[in-house]
Amino acid sequence: MRKNIVAGNWKMNLKRDEGLNLVNDVINLLPSDNEVEVVFAPSFIYLYKVNKMCLNLDRVSTASQNISKEESGAFTGEVSAEMIRSINVKYAIIGHSERREYFKETNEDLKQKVDVLLKNNLEVIFCCGESLNQREEKVHFDCIKNQISESLFHLSSNDFSKIVIAYEPIWAIGTGVTASSDQAEEIHKFIREIIAQKYGRELANNISILYGGSCKPTNAREIFSKDNIDGGLIGGASLNAESFIEIIKSF
Ligand code: PEP
Repeated sequence: MRKNIVAGNWKMNLKRDEGLNLVNDVINLLPSDNEVEVVFAPSFIYLYKVNKMCLNLDRVSTASQNISKEESGAFTGEVSAEMIRSINVKYAIIGHSERREYFKETNEDLKQKVDVLLKNNLEVIFCCGESLNQREEKVHFDCIKNQISESLFHLSSNDFSKIVIAYEPIWAIGTGVTASSDQAEEIHKFIREIIAQKYGRELANNISILYGGSCKPTNAREIFSKDNIDGGLIGGASLNAESFIEIIKSF
């Protein structure tokens, strides 16, 4: 079901105590009538502990920042879907632009990751988004359509309903430049439309689509006010309890 989600992607930041204190502070500051699902995506080595801190809380969960496309075996340094499922993590983020760019992950790799995640009953936060060049060349709609269709459109309707999409224009990630709320809404509406064409309007209306890219307390309210924006995937501003809470309260 469509829901509002604010997910904090810590990336390769925070030492153990900094991370655990941040989770504690956010939990303590959460409004009691919070309707938003809050997701922490720490590094793998803190995931077990952070997940334990969230287990008995309503609408607070965790995500891994990545996952292996392989199920198990001789893949030194990799972490499998089965492993994170075994510690009761709910989500995995895949397809972040940093993974696509620095680790050369392709749409085909992500297709395999989606399959292995769904097979292990994990929910997927699937990132997509165009580069500045692609936007300037006006191929951003095609880019996003390809990312989504090549990695996700082999899924059954039932499986697709377990996907959360995060639209993250690469030019806005970590740059301080945010897509305007109208630019973001235009793409979110487009994403919902291509999902509707493939799976029908009802399913498309039930998918949560998050925005990511320099989202902060000063712009979150305006961004989240748009019809097709169901929350945010937050990088830098999720590393500080006060700013993360302000974003959560922006609905
Ligand atoms: C991200 O990396 O997913 C992200 C949105 O980062 P930032 O909020 O720092 O732009």
